[in-house]
Amino acid sequence: MTRFAGKVAVVTGGAQGIGAATARLLAEEGAAVAVVDLSAERAAGTAEEITAKGGTARAYGCDVADYDAVEAVFARIAEDLGGLHILINNAGITRDNLFFKMPKADWDAVLTVNLTSAYNCSHVAQKYMVAQKWGKIVSLSSRSALGNRGQANYAAAKAGIQGLTATLAIELGPFNINVNAVAPGYIATAMTAATAERVGATAEDHQTEVAARTPLRRVGQPEEIASVVAFLASEDASYVSGQTLYVNGGAR
Ligand code: NDP
Repeated sequence: MTRFAGKVAVVTGGAQGIGAATARLLAEEGAAVAVVDLSAERAAGTAEEITAKGGTARAYGCDVADYDAVEAVFARIAEDLGGLHILINNAGITRDNLFFKMPKADWDAVLTVNLTSAYNCSHVAQKYMVAQKWGKIVSLSSRSALGNRGQANYAAAKAGIQGLTATLAIELGPFNINVNAVAPGYIATAMTAATAERVGATAEDHQTEVAARTPLRRVGQPEEIASVVAFLASEDASYVSGQTLYVNGGAR
C-alpha cells in the first residue's frame, strides 16, 4: 500500500514504542518520515531501520515541550523533506503517584510533555497545513483519560488531548485538516515496563495481570496502535474528524 506517497509525516517520540511502530508503518506506506525525539541520536535508530528497508526517514532532536525548538525543527523538516502534511503527537511521559503525594513538579512535567507539546506541535504544524489546505493531526490520548488511580496528572493531560482534538477539528476542518486522537489501553512498551517496575512487578507478570481483566485476554502491541493511527492519518478516514478512538482490547 502507498497511502502516504508524497506526504511528509512528523512523528514525535519516535525513538521507541508506539512512535517507532507508527514511523515504520507510515514509511512502509510511502511517507517521508521525520522521526523526532529528545535527541537525534535516540531518533536515529528508527530512522536507520526505515532507510535500511528502502524507506525515507530522517532523525531530529527536539524537546517538543519547547515551542521555539518545535518551530525551528519543523522548519528544518519542511526544508529537508519537502513539506509537512501529517503530524503524530505521540511524545509522552508518566510520573505516577497518588494525588496527595504528587509533587507540583510532576504535575507540571506531565501536563507539559503530554498536552502542551501537542499545542506546540499542532500550532506550528497548522501553519503549513492551512497554507496547503491539507493536513492530518493524530494525537495520543489514553484510556487513562477516563480516570486511573495514581495518574491524576496523566489522566488530566490525556483528557485535555481529547478536548484539544475536538476543538481543532472544528477550527481547522474548513482548511481540509482532519484532527483525531487514539486512546490506547495497555500497550507493551518501555512506558508500561516502567509502570510494572514501580509497582514491584516484572513486565511479564504485570502484563499477565492486565491481560486477565482485558476482554481480548492480552495486552496490546505498538503495531496495533500504529495501524489505527495510520488509518486516521490516511484518506481511508477522510470524513472522520474530532474523534477519539479507544483501542484497548475491549476494556470498558
Ligand atoms: P515510550 O515511553 O516508550 O516512548 C515515548 C517516547 O517519547 C520516548 O522515546 C521519549 O524519549 C519521547 N519523549 C518523551 N518526552 C519527550 C519530549 N519532551 N520531546 C520529545 N520526545 C519525548 O512511550 P509509549 O510508546 O508507550 O507511548 C507513546 C504515546 O502513547 C505516549 O503519548 C503515551 O502516553 C501514549 N500511551 C501509551 C500507552 C501504553 O500503554 N504504552 C497507553 C496509552 C497511551 P525518552 O525515552 O528519551 O524519554
